[in-house]
Amino acid sequence: MTLPDFPRFRLAHLPTPLERLERLRKHLNGPRLFMKRDDCTGLALGGNKTRKLEFLIGDALNRGATAVITEGGVQSNHVRQTAAAAAKAGLKCHLALDHRVPIDTSIYCESGNFLLDRLLGATAHLCGPNETRASVVTRVTSDLRSQGEVPYVIPTGGSNEIGALGYVLAARELLQQANEADISIDHVVAAASSGGTQAGLIAGMAIENSDVLVTGIDVEGDDGALTFEIENVTERCAERIGLAAGPWSSSPRIERGYAGEGYGIPTVSLIEAINLTATLEGILLDPVYTGKAMAGLIGMIRSGAFATDQTIVFIHSGGAPALFAYADRVLES
Ligand SMILES: *Cc1c(COP(=O)(O)O)cnc(C)c1O
Repeated sequence: MTLPDFPRFRLAHLPTPLERLERLRKHLNGPRLFMKRDDCTGLALGGNKTRKLEFLIGDALNRGATAVITEGGVQSNHVRQTAAAAAKAGLKCHLALDHRVPIDTSIYCESGNFLLDRLLGATAHLCGPNETRASVVTRVTSDLRSQGEVPYVIPTGGSNEIGALGYVLAARELLQQANEADISIDHVVAAASSGGTQAGLIAGMAIENSDVLVTGIDVEGDDGALTFEIENVTERCAERIGLAAGPWSSSPRIERGYAGEGYGIPTVSLIEAINLTATLEGILLDPVYTGKAMAGLIGMIRSGAFATDQTIVFIHSGGAPALFAYADRVLES
């Protein structure tokens, strides 16, 4: 089905590779495993937000914006990719950053994504003790207006119905790739946090009439907000692309139990997953999202969730720049 023509600003190297993980499959004695390399989207070390930003920046430019504002944690990959996208589009970029994760080593506070945000020319606004990211976004937006700028606010993780369009197209890209390589996919597994990636994939599979299942691994230890977010973004995205309600709209598949103490806090299974994937496949996962998502996939395989003749695609959504911020806690001792 053809999609409506949404404003799009090209940022990503597409299609991203679809790579077989044969040594990891053997080690786990599990189903056929592939990885969709969305860590290789190419924009300032890549990641899943680049696909979303093609449509968000497209919308911003279409509305005559001169500046973008977004929010996240100090080690946010979304924020880093937004800074790069804004640079390429010639837009000013302001960031509302908080420090929710209870790690305060100097590498965490200065290196990794936060170093890159500043290198990419963005202005960082760290939340004060009595501020929330939302209140900083409101304040910076009105300051920019009073300076004659036209600000465009991008939500956390770029997860709204516009950003999710990037993953509607990613679903199509993946199905085409699989088709060309004669691979029949049963299941896609990805990290889920702000939910736009999973929402876009669900809507994308539905509009392609595909019955590939999409499971998100909760990386935050979420209490239900994630389900609501994914349902909400999927519904609004479906409306935008003219997709009629269907079986896809029933509750999203979310696998819980791999988040440990919460967002950004490493777990034993995350460290195992990062080290296994690095040493068996030469691929770098990240310490916040894909490490926990791979721990989830490994846990599902070990508990017999898949038959060995099934084919699973893991979405590598990026994030490796944060490894440097976690340098003191990712090696297996
Ligand atoms: C943001 C992010 C995710 C989560 O994607 P959502 O669309 O927010 O659910 C997964 N992996 C990485 C590396 C990310 O930066």
